Amino acid sequence: MNTADMALLGAIEAGGTKFVLAVGSSSSEILARHVIPTLTPDATLAAAAEWFAAQGKLRALGIASFGPVELDRASPQWGHITNTPKPGWANCDLAGYFADRFGVAVGFDTDVNGAALAESRHGAGKGASSLAYVTVGTGIGGGLVLDNTPVHGAAHPELGHIYVRRPTGDSGFAGICPHHGDCLEGLASGPAIKARWGASLSELPADHEAHGMVAYYLGQLCHSLFAMTAAEVAVLGGGVMKTPGLIERIRECSAELGAGYLPGTARHRIVAPGLGEDSGITGALMLAEDAG
Ligand code: ZN
Repeated sequence: MNTADMALLGAIEAGGTKFVLAVGSSSSEILARHVIPTLTPDATLAAAAEWFAAQGKLRALGIASFGPVELDRASPQWGHITNTPKPGWANCDLAGYFADRFGVAVGFDTDVNGAALAESRHGAGKGASSLAYVTVGTGIGGGLVLDNTPVHGAAHPELGHIYVRRPTGDSGFAGICPHHGDCLEGLASGPAIKARWGASLSELPADHEAHGMVAYYLGQLCHSLFAMTAAEVAVLGGGVMKTPGLIERIRECSAELGAGYLPGTARHRIVAPGLGEDSGITGALMLAEDAG
């Protein structure tokens, strides 16, 4: 084995509160990991680079980042976080920093596209060529892999900001999205549930109306994903999805809304992440593997 073969894949799952770092020999084998807080770009990127330098020689690096990010390879802004409101991080050249520092190829995508890639190749969607990964937590975000390729398009999908139909009698809550009010994120994210009912979904009794309503909203997302993209699998993760019974209710709502009409209905699955908390970092390793 030559030295290049022995060099490591590096991975960064860049989040708004923490950066998860890992090195691996392949995307299915994490050899070491480290978590650092997201402070200023200068401090956080330097701490990340220092940790990687101590692990050994890198052969490629993958970054799955919070957004919004620029994914167009032809753009001079490729690899940047763009107009985030997070202080100091707007226009941060994440990919360029590490490419300059280590002189290796860098793969770059959104955190949720990374998670979707990982779940489709190594997780709950193993064997599926098309999959959506949705996280329902402080916000609602999603990544999409179609025919084994992450979807970018004009920028990247923003699945949380679609409008949903509201059930009869559900008109007293305006929703909390600063841009759209009662878009899906404005109605079904963790902060929306807290603002509306004063508690998290898992704290509310099982017969509380919130369970059915949140399941109805998220069931519409799953149905829409199946109808629009023909994805086989919808993987639902994030804090709100830890609520007991929620995924079962969402499956029922989605099936009811689909009414058995969609071609491929029998192949549609709504599942929890197979990689648990490791979807994002595994996706970042895959981006490294594909870049290297
Ligand atoms: Zn919105």
